[in-house]
Amino acid sequence: MADMDSLIDQWKDEIVEETRNLIKIRSVEEPAKNDRPFGDGPYEALRYSLELSEKLGFSTRNHENFAGHAEWGQGRDIVGILVHLDVVPEGSGWSYPPYEGRVVDGKIYGRGASDDKGPAVAALYALRAVKEAGIPLKKRVRIIFGTNEESGWGCMKHYFEEKKEEIPAMGFSPDAGFPIINREKGILIFNIDKNFERLPEKIRINSIKGGQRPNMVPDYCEADIRVKDDLREDIMRKFDSFKKGKDASLEMEESSDGFIVKSYGVSAHGSTPENGKNAIVPLAEFLAELFGCINDENNDVAEFIKFIAKYIGCEIHGESLNIHFKDEPSGDLVLNLGMVEMDENKGRLVINIRYPVTFKGEEVIKGLESSLAGIDKSLKLSDISDNPPLYVPADSPLVIKLQKVYKEVTGEEPELIAIGGGTYARAIPNAVAFGAQFPGKPEVAHERDEYIEIDDLIRCTKIFAHAIAALAGE
Ligand SMILES: [Zn+2]
Repeated sequence: MADMDSLIDQWKDEIVEETRNLIKIRSVEEPAKNDRPFGDGPYEALRYSLELSEKLGFSTRNHENFAGHAEWGQGRDIVGILVHLDVVPEGSGWSYPPYEGRVVDGKIYGRGASDDKGPAVAALYALRAVKEAGIPLKKRVRIIFGTNEESGWGCMKHYFEEKKEEIPAMGFSPDAGFPIINREKGILIFNIDKNFERLPEKIRINSIKGGQRPNMVPDYCEADIRVKDDLREDIMRKFDSFKKGKDASLEMEESSDGFIVKSYGVSAHGSTPENGKNAIVPLAEFLAELFGCINDENNDVAEFIKFIAKYIGCEIHGESLNIHFKDEPSGDLVLNLGMVEMDENKGRLVINIRYPVTFKGEEVIKGLESSLAGIDKSLKLSDISDNPPLYVPADSPLVIKLQKVYKEVTGEEPELIAIGGGTYARAIPNAVAFGAQFPGKPEVAHERDEYIEIDDLIRCTKIFAHAIAALAGE
């Protein structure tokens, strides 16, 4: 009987071809239609993958076109491999057609090539290699196909919560990078709201708007302020002197009844706010100073703006809010002020927090609530969503086995990585993100000209085959 690696080498062309076939299906989420909860593309990609799974000799199940799986092996426990078949929109500026799967210089180009269609095909052929090499299994292996990873994870909710599918005893998701991501912080998203009853007397803040998404550092914020004519010059002078002392990109334009103040920041992912510059903060600092200068501080609007400037400001660990939690496995809590929205009557901040793996979301919320109560009782939290951390300790059998496989197949050090959170592995307990991007390679997911190198595709197929054998073989 052939060994797994040489089987996979023999199937190289087929693996490339099936990756191309999946890329050709434009599986971008669209509105639900009949029995297709995420539109035609994700439906078609799932149908195709399950058909291919059957051709390769696996049993399959499709849960109402939300998600499905291919299964092989026997035993009570399941090893789960989580992949997704949906893609983000292609965007513009491609060198090659995004849905053709063109092969150029040993790379397959196309939306989804690396995120996550190539890795999905690799997982399928890895399982086929285990099967055809006759590796005896003591667990069942399931490749679980999601179709809504990029926009809400409705696929996994349906699969595990609605359909009550068996939860794998362990697993991995090749939807990030090698070697192994075993720690992902918890993710909290919530609003801080305040209703304005006592209004300022000298300035009216018509609106403040900044940021587009909770998990991005806002690169733009704008305030529309109305002032009495006799204050105009004062405010302009104040603005100039404020700007001088600040490393911030602020502009102020006169409007018919006041000013438009614009603040430009630098965008970055919400898990790494230190790489960006929050556009909301300098604007809030300016307005807070302004309220002070013109002696108009005793009102809800000025207090809300002062809260932003004083208690959030440029701090990215929630220091002044007294929620700077940290732990040894995953480091500091990270806070991103993602959005602000204010009109004359109310203000809202949208905040994204990544908290360390040994804490609970409720602990962070409790800490925050008690701080807010001490600062201003009218500040209220709303729309709290908590995505708990992922933490599989370094000495767990899952991590030890995957490390051994990675080292054997690649010859490289199987380092364990902690990240700010968000991989597909979180969909099941006791799972880690494992592949399929190799360390040191450029990050191409969601970019134009996304590709996967054919050599990497084959290499990760081999890694997965050995991983399946190690995890399910005993
Ligand atoms: Zn992905």
